[in-house]
Amino acid sequence: MTTANQSLKPITTKINENGHLEIGGCDVVSLAEKYGTPLYVFDEETIRTIACQYKKAFNNYPKVSMLYASKAFMTKAIVRILDEEGFGFDMVSGGEIYTAYKAGGNMKKSLFNGNNKSYDELQMAVEFGVGLVSVDNFLELALLNDVAKSNNKVVDILLRVTPGIECHTHEYIQTGHLDSKFGFDLTQVDEAVELIIDEYKNLNLIGLHAHIGSQIFETSIYYDEVNVLLKEMGRLKEKYGLNLTHINLGGGLGIKYTDKDCPPSIDEIAEKIISSIKENAPKYNVESPEIHIEPGRSIIGTSGVTLYTVGSSKQVPKGKKYVAVDGGMADNPRPSLYQAVYTAEVANRPEDEKTETVTIAGRFCESGDILIKDVKMPVLEEGDILCFYDTGAYGYSMSSNYNRVLKPAAVLVNNSQSDIIIDREDYEHLVSLDRIPARLEK
Ligand SMILES: *Cc1c(COP(=O)(O)O)cnc(C)c1O
Repeated sequence: MTTANQSLKPITTKINENGHLEIGGCDVVSLAEKYGTPLYVFDEETIRTIACQYKKAFNNYPKVSMLYASKAFMTKAIVRILDEEGFGFDMVSGGEIYTAYKAGGNMKKSLFNGNNKSYDELQMAVEFGVGLVSVDNFLELALLNDVAKSNNKVVDILLRVTPGIECHTHEYIQTGHLDSKFGFDLTQVDEAVELIIDEYKNLNLIGLHAHIGSQIFETSIYYDEVNVLLKEMGRLKEKYGLNLTHINLGGGLGIKYTDKDCPPSIDEIAEKIISSIKENAPKYNVESPEIHIEPGRSIIGTSGVTLYTVGSSKQVPKGKKYVAVDGGMADNPRPSLYQAVYTAEVANRPEDEKTETVTIAGRFCESGDILIKDVKMPVLEEGDILCFYDTGAYGYSMSSNYNRVLKPAAVLVNNSQSDIIIDREDYEHLVSLDRIPARLEK
């Protein structure tokens, strides 16, 4: 079965009777008029469908927990939706923990992860009842044990390890290779385990955690990852008599940003994971573990689009034609950060013939602020609304106020209804944290 991460567009996308793009039953051009641009639009039906496809894909495996990787895009409304779908949250900062907590996310099902958690963040995680901490390094073992002790608690932990598996994705989004800033090298695991057994009495080690990278297309990587983790479990069982019961496999499943991308389905990676457990757990003499899956991009990426309004354009004599939109690298840094490629359509006339090759530029003061290079489009005019697909993940969550441009709003669409889930910033908000020292006052 194909799953929604394999779709280029939100699953409700169509062309309506006005000849406009429609998503979630809402006319995209009307959304741009009503809420202004740039605008992030999230399709609730796509989010829920993918969440269900994840649950269904692992239906046959008895012990699975789904955690949403909050860093891809998190707001209180997104927490509500994924909580309703039975997901916990993979969180990497005090801010993400606070958001999940405030929105009523299930803290017990959730996990705190990250390579440099502060004492205060660990304290917050323990205080808010976060169920599990993935400990990344030796300093954190000591800090978390202190926090747990001063709260009179024993905290369940995983050890984050680097399994030494490389995937063919951009260098900046690989994380599981040996020379990585994340987690314990496998040669350091024994030292960590001995410290936990001998000294850190307020930590309860229940399993191992790995995350190989992001925008992964190779299913065999998940087979190999499970194999490495089970092997390590078997080794620790034999050496220390430790019965680890959990493995967290991270996220990473890819999505389709352009027609050239062919990501695997959720079912295909589930099948690899489950077959690897069936084949390899007996080999290493361990029980089938409870597994955690932490998708981020593959849940929210396809579910979100960004709308821009076309402004100025420039034909370089004997060179490119640039068409500028009212957003760019501050609301979507991925093209300038990782040369990410996107697909866009003209929302007010998606069926017009694409007759011109243009480069779509952002409005920010950087030559690198280019959203799409050399793409075929209808002849674009000022006021056209461009719909960029697959901007739901790592767009808003990586956005900035570069050039003191206001952050856009985000709306959630479903069944012809649209609701704001993040307000557009205003100028007062923008200056609200600025302070002028008394000696500089006029
Ligand atoms: C980023 C991250 C994820 C999510 O990755 P996606 O590619 O967005 O699915 C999951 N787990 C961990 C530990 C991560 O760092």
